[in-house]
Amino acid sequence: MKIGFIGLGNMGAPMAANLVAAGHAVTGFDLTAPCPDGVSKAASAAECATAQDVVITMLPNGAILRSVAAEIVPAMQAGAGFVDCSTVDVESARAVADDAVAAGLLPVDAPGSGGIGGAAGGPLTFMAGGSDAAFAKADPLFDIMGQKAVHCGASGAGQAAKICNNMILGVTMIGTCEAFALADKLGLDRQKMFDVVSTSSGYSWSMNAYCPAPGIGPQSPADNDYKPGFAAELMLKDLRLSQQAAETVDAATPLGQHATDLYKTFVEDEDGLGMDFSAMLPRFEKKSR
Ligand code: NAD
Repeated sequence: MKIGFIGLGNMGAPMAANLVAAGHAVTGFDLTAPCPDGVSKAASAAECATAQDVVITMLPNGAILRSVAAEIVPAMQAGAGFVDCSTVDVESARAVADDAVAAGLLPVDAPGSGGIGGAAGGPLTFMAGGSDAAFAKADPLFDIMGQKAVHCGASGAGQAAKICNNMILGVTMIGTCEAFALADKLGLDRQKMFDVVSTSSGYSWSMNAYCPAPGIGPQSPADNDYKPGFAAELMLKDLRLSQQAAETVDAATPLGQHATDLYKTFVEDEDGLGMDFSAMLPRFEKKSR
């Protein structure tokens, strides 16, 4: 396929490189980041999007997605796929999809879960929202950029799934970290704590796959001085999106709100900026009741 790729940052660059490696003709555009090997550089987003079978965007937020979409939608050929893999608010995803459909395009919102390691290594999971025809157009590319894609429903459903997933992740990571800090104070050995919880009803991805305690469980950012991984500020971004969405539909999410507040304090007032989101554990270690 002829593919335009806009937003070649931490996530976008390895995804574009994987598409090149699979034999696709990829043209890229980014305001600052260089094009990975094998990706030809366009002079503008509109040029990048012109005459492509599919255009993929991987951008920081909904406002930037909306402005890039306003530029590229008129430039794209009718019937082309428009796959936005950024994590953005549900409203922006739906607004951009509406404009794309009106222009005869096939839009899919498809945020990924799996992080930087995921984008480079392939095991990203995409959660997709859009029509059956739009999903079918994009689906072969998801196989190349990640391990699988779940078609979650109409436009916006991919973003909805992503923020619900990451709200659970933020809450379980905080729960896991505060439990480790409590266990420490109770004199419980961390390895014993892991051995019990990882095979008991307290288990979760945060404990079993991404254990926040250094030297315990599988390799994780905790074993690398809490270098991300998945940065605390990105978790804060996703938690804020979850609360913004909850507000819009009047959903009660008290733990999601509390997790948002804790990550906000951690990132903005403590030393969490630039740390992995599992660095909540050393934070709790320093706190008293
Ligand atoms: P990043 O900041 O590394 O990359 C974003 C890129 O977009 C940058 O290179 C920037 O120059 C470019 N950009 C910004 N405005 C642009 C414009 N108008 N035109 C062209 N390019 C523009 O961010 P990232 O880590 O690659 O994340 C991208 C998206 O993926 C975000 O929405 C993020 O929330 C989501 N995400 C990130 C992770 C992660 O672990 N990094 C995991 C899952 C999802």
